[in-house]
Amino acid sequence: MLELDRVSTGYGRVRALDTVSLTLGAGHTLAVLGPNGAGKSTLLKLVAGLQAPWSGTLKLDGSADLSPLDVTARVHRGIVLCPEGRRIFTTLSVEENLCIGGTALLARPGGAQRMREGLERAYSLFPILAERRHGPGSALSGGQQQMLAIARALMAEPRLLLLDEPSLGLSPVMADEVYATLAALKAEGMTLIVVEEAAGRPLGLADTAMILRNGRTVWRGAAAAARDPDLLQRAYLGDH
Ligand code: ATP
Repeated sequence: MLELDRVSTGYGRVRALDTVSLTLGAGHTLAVLGPNGAGKSTLLKLVAGLQAPWSGTLKLDGSADLSPLDVTARVHRGIVLCPEGRRIFTTLSVEENLCIGGTALLARPGGAQRMREGLERAYSLFPILAERRHGPGSALSGGQQQMLAIARALMAEPRLLLLDEPSLGLSPVMADEVYATLAALKAEGMTLIVVEEAAGRPLGLADTAMILRNGRTVWRGAAAAARDPDLLQRAYLGDH
């Protein structure tokens, strides 16, 4: 579904990703791991269209070159980012946040109906959001805000969902709940890329993993093979 070939990018003179390649098949989950500043968020921004490549190619579905497509065009092709830090609109209601996520649907046939179905699906996935639908986003706990951020991303009917640190700042119980939802989405056939600094939960979910450090891929392989504390320590700390 997604193919990156030797992609580099950065900010001004800072190179944040250096010749990174990856292949992700439809229905698969990739965990992107690594320490602070490794380039994980930059990789998601690159795929979502928020960051342009300096060099290298990005392809969707075998042939389509992603580079000329802006964020909105990529959303229409099914690539949706759930950003780090949730970025929900705290002064708007839960339902308004969800409707913003579904804006892209309105340009499609049956958009209003799909918006209604999306809301129903969001509320059945996350019943707490149904209870709080008319309250402000600010009234939600951190875990509930993360659920809202995921639900808002789902409103755009993604084929490829990009999740930036979905468990950051959550209690272990909440983080488990968020990962249970991601497992349900994977079981439905959705393709996922999950970025996290903490390796445990994403490696339990993913099929494949890559570990970035200083913008370079230091390890790639089956997620199960990365569940090795020695390997992780060497990859994160630089002895790899
Ligand atoms: P974190 O877990 O801290 O978010 P990360 O692995 O997601 O880390 P990135 O946020 O992708 O890493 O950052 C990669 C590099 O790019 C870092 O050196 C970072 O300082 C730099 N960087 C990121 N965003 C910007 C920006 N907007 N302007 C300048 N440099 C940036």
